[in-house]
Amino acid sequence: MRLTNLPAIFEPARPVLQRIEQAGYEAYFVGGCVRDTILGDHIHDIDIATSAYPSEIKQIFKRTVDTGIEHGTVMILDHGKGYETTTFRTESGYQDFRRPDHVTFVRSLSEDLKRRDFTINALAMKENGEVIDLFDGLSDLKKHLIKAVGDPEARFHEDALRMMRAVRFASKLDFDIDPQTLQGVTDNASLLSKIAVERTQVEMEKLLLGQNPPRGLHAMLSTGLYQYCPELEGQAEGLQRLADCNHWPLTSNIAAWSALLYALQVPADQSTHFLRQWKLSNDLMSSVKSVLVFLGHAAKNQVDTWTLFQCGRNNLQAAAEVAILFDFAKEQMQEWQNDYAKLAIHDRHELAVNGGQLLKETPLKPGPAMGKVLEQSLRAVVAGKVANSLPALLKYSEQLINQGDL
Ligand code: ATP
Ligand code: MG
Repeated sequence: MRLTNLPAIFEPARPVLQRIEQAGYEAYFVGGCVRDTILGDHIHDIDIATSAYPSEIKQIFKRTVDTGIEHGTVMILDHGKGYETTTFRTESGYQDFRRPDHVTFVRSLSEDLKRRDFTINALAMKENGEVIDLFDGLSDLKKHLIKAVGDPEARFHEDALRMMRAVRFASKLDFDIDPQTLQGVTDNASLLSKIAVERTQVEMEKLLLGQNPPRGLHAMLSTGLYQYCPELEGQAEGLQRLADCNHWPLTSNIAAWSALLYALQVPADQSTHFLRQWKLSNDLMSSVKSVLVFLGHAAKNQVDTWTLFQCGRNNLQAAAEVAILFDFAKEQMQEWQNDYAKLAIHDRHELAVNGGQLLKETPLKPGPAMGKVLEQSLRAVVAGKVANSLPALLKYSEQLINQGDL
């Protein structure tokens, strides 16, 4: 099969592949970018595989960066752009069900494609659009099928993360998982606990942000894979609740994790503990907590300007997606988003008065009283009771001082 009219993203990379070929080596586009081209899906990055060793790539191109040279990855800099190329390799060892003990560079494309996880991810494409399909990936793409390259049992033993990848591609692409591959997941699900949580987390997030998350969630439930994810043991009911939702997709990582916790009915004050087991970043944990706090107020219809201000734009957007997903408060969410847009300020740094100005213009000294004045000023501006201007806020501060209850 030869693809014509390659997406524009390939165009500037083609001369790079041509130069590697002119130097006597092979070079191909590989993996997700070939799969997504054939599916007509958006391509976010391109991967290049080559028979040239890293040292040979560095002889061909003057400007390179060693981005992962021990794994064979070198970034070629060309016309202001960077192209990651990885030398064909085989992997062996896998004594711990995760990363291979050894990576060996090889000259053969077929050896490289053999180590890849699924047939649809084991396609290669020449710079001229010719597709190399050694494992019937094209036919599985047509059948919308995720199928392990080779024996699923052995492949999941080599790297247990592939089971999470199977369920995430089911969601991402809205594909079925081949029965034998699915059986392999069922039989080996417990091996997932050997995998670094950070890697499982990436796949879980992509599953939740895919085209058809219920498909991935059903596969996790039917195989029991969920039992070996952080905090999900025994949570079939909550996961089923999420899988039963109809109004997808979600568009941000904040929305993804918030939806999961909402489905599992994790209270806002326990969300950080839950998400820490998934090793999410502090920022993301704090956002999810804000979303859950907001949804708590929303459920009780207790949303005021201060609730909106504290939630913030991105978290509010995520809360809206969760509300749509679970089919509640949809119209109100839209109103709340409009109300949010109309707030006088959206960040505390936008307050038109600061401590220095209060020191200069009022009898206040640094300390708790000044903190209170600033906090009350902020709330008053957010509530629309005081204009966000220095004179108005200084006047308001005088009033607070004169009231004397600081
Ligand atoms: P995405 O669009 O999500 O990036 P992708 O197919 O590019 O999808 P990556 O995780 O970026 O997925 O991996 C790139 C390629 O590397 C895959 O297409 C696959 O060929 C191979 N690969 C990645 N992870 C594994 C793994 N754990 N086992 C075997 N092959 C893998
Ligand atoms: Mg990729």
